[in-house]
Amino acid sequence: MHTNSTIELSLSALKKNLYFLKRTFGRNVKISSVVKGNAYGHGIREFATMALHCGINHFSVFDSHEAKKVKQVVKKNTEIMIMGFVDDEAITWAIDHNVSFFVFEKDRLRKAIKAAKKLGKKAGVHIEVETGMNRTGFGMREIPGVIRLLQKEKEHVTLKGLCTHYAGAESIANYYRVTEQIKVFKKVHSQFNREGLHPETRHTACSAAAMMYPETRMDMVRIGIMQYGLWPSPETFVSLLNKRKSKADPLERVIAWKSEVMSIKKVKAGDFIGYGTHFMAKQKVKIAIVPIGYSHGYSRSLSNQGRVLIHGRRCVVVGSVGMNMMIVDVSQILDLKKGDEVVMIGAQGQDDMSVASFSDYSDQLNYELLARLSRDIPRKIVD
Ligand SMILES: *Cc1c(COP(=O)(O)O)cnc(C)c1O
Repeated sequence: MHTNSTIELSLSALKKNLYFLKRTFGRNVKISSVVKGNAYGHGIREFATMALHCGINHFSVFDSHEAKKVKQVVKKNTEIMIMGFVDDEAITWAIDHNVSFFVFEKDRLRKAIKAAKKLGKKAGVHIEVETGMNRTGFGMREIPGVIRLLQKEKEHVTLKGLCTHYAGAESIANYYRVTEQIKVFKKVHSQFNREGLHPETRHTACSAAAMMYPETRMDMVRIGIMQYGLWPSPETFVSLLNKRKSKADPLERVIAWKSEVMSIKKVKAGDFIGYGTHFMAKQKVKIAIVPIGYSHGYSRSLSNQGRVLIHGRRCVVVGSVGMNMMIVDVSQILDLKKGDEVVMIGAQGQDDMSVASFSDYSDQLNYELLARLSRDIPRKIVD
């Protein structure tokens, strides 16, 4: 290994996840593959390549920077949609390159129209409706004005979509809020229809909404976390189990993250290990140094908490996680050698370190853990 660690991406796992999602949603619902945050840490180019191979032809990203990365690997008839940030320059680029984008402010809509006129090319926009999350989106009162502007400038804008985002569909505690959001969205959609504006697609659901509230699937779903083989929350998984006979997880984790033992040593009882006094050896211990730290995405909050697999056994991180290194207790492993495999995420022997297990040891969400994985770690596509 030439680098401190490797991220492996399983193509067969992705195929399985997409198969499950397609079967659940039915053939009339398009799946947009959400690859923001460097494809949830998987590596945007590698992941998009795999998704294309699995038949995906719609991608959702956060900004034009990510859109450009996806562009590098996609074929012609694939749509890229920017859900978040576009400044003036990015708007012009997007229109010119047939990349569609969310519009949630009048100012952005006017700029899009202006840029479209200048380019002599239509802007593909998705009108985002504020339905109750109170983040981005046009409020009810702004809708009539938006409709008028779209009607007036219809030679310069294509209404690609009408959309919204739910504020916490992964937790049943938000049931009331989410169902209210669905109502508001439907109302705004009828308003558009009455005015003769028919968005090409209605899309509102993320993974959790698509699973928990089937009516949110509409024409297209924006699926992030589940395509990577992970659940938005334990509740989402339990809710599926309650509905089906099989209790097996239909999803399979795509990612694995592996490193190796860099050095081994023994520490005598009573000594502190690592920086400061975070860990004291109560008895003689054998430790392994692993070249992984918070600069690679292994959170410092896993100090004295994290677990890794070595020789198929769980070994605990001792002391604080450093910038580039961490120390694990390997006293239980007798024949350990330098260069032996260390698994932070993935299977080894009979055991498995899940992404979800990180939230048992720290307060990190699976989303956060993944998104923090360093871009520098090489990604390798495996079967
Ligand atoms: C991230 C995101 C999604 C995907 O969410 P998952 O929970 O990962 O499926 C969908 N829509 C928007 C607007 C998002 O920002």
